[in-house]
Amino acid sequence: MKTEILGISFDNLSREEAKKAGSAMLHSPDFHYVVTPNPEFILAAERDSEFRALLNRANLVLPDGIGVVYSSRILGTPLKERVAGFDFACDMLHVLNEMGGRLYLLGAKPGVAEEAGRRILETYPNITLCGTHDGYFQDSDPVACEVAQANPDLLFVCLGAPKQEKWMTRYGAITGAKLAIGLGGALDVFAGNIQRAPAAWQKLGLEWAYRLSKEPKRIGRMAKLPLVLVKATHQRISSKRKEGT
Ligand code: UDP
Repeated sequence: MKTEILGISFDNLSREEAKKAGSAMLHSPDFHYVVTPNPEFILAAERDSEFRALLNRANLVLPDGIGVVYSSRILGTPLKERVAGFDFACDMLHVLNEMGGRLYLLGAKPGVAEEAGRRILETYPNITLCGTHDGYFQDSDPVACEVAQANPDLLFVCLGAPKQEKWMTRYGAITGAKLAIGLGGALDVFAGNIQRAPAAWQKLGLEWAYRLSKEPKRIGRMAKLPLVLVKATHQRISSKRKEGT
C-alpha cells in the first residue's frame, strides 16, 4: 500500500516486510530499483518533476529519514516505521549471501568502493564481489557496460541524489542486475569512513543529530528536515479547512 507524503508515494512497510519484497525482486529475472527518500529528496522533487516521477515509479520507495515518518504522522497517514536505506542494504546483502549471488558497488571517491567491498565480504563470505567503480566519472555509457559485463545480481548506486536515481533509471536495466538501490553515502559507511549513530540514537529518531555532531557542515542540508514538517503541517491544515467547507 502506498502513502503519499508531499508528492512522493512511499511504500508503507516495516523493515521486515521491505526485506521480503526486496528478496522477491532479487529472486526474479527482471530489473527493479529501490529509492530511499529523506526530507532533502522531497524538497528537491518539488522543484524537479523528472526526479519526482522516477521516485514514484520505483519498485520500492522506502522512508529513509525520520522527518518523512514525522510528516506522515502530521498528515494523518502514519507510516509503519523508518526503513533506513543502509538497513535495507544490509538486509539485501544477507539475502544475497544466502543466494551466493553477485554484488557490484558503484559510487563514492576512488578506493572507497573497494574497501567497502572488502569489509562486506568479511561479513557475507558467500557473496561474489563482481566489480567496483568510483562515482566520479564523466561518461556513463562505458561505466554501464562495465557493470553489465560483471553480471551482478545486486547493484548499489551511491552517487548522491538525484544523480543516483537518474543513473539507475537510465542505465539500470542494461546492467542486467535484478535489483539496484540508490544509497547515497552508504559506501562511506561500509568502508568505515563514516560511523552510523549508535542504536540508541537511531531508536530515538536522532540519527540526524548524531550525523550533524560529526559533520557540522551539513547544517544547511539538515535544515530541510524542519522545513518538510512545516510543509506537512500546512498541507494538513489546508485539507482540514477544505473538509470543513
Ligand atoms: N558521490 C559520487 N559522485 C558524485 C557525487 C557524490 O560518487 O558525483 C558520492 C559521494 O562521494 C558520497 C555519496 O555520493 O559517497 C553522496 O553522499 P551524500 O552525502 O549525498 O548522501 P547521504 O549521506 O545523504 O546519503
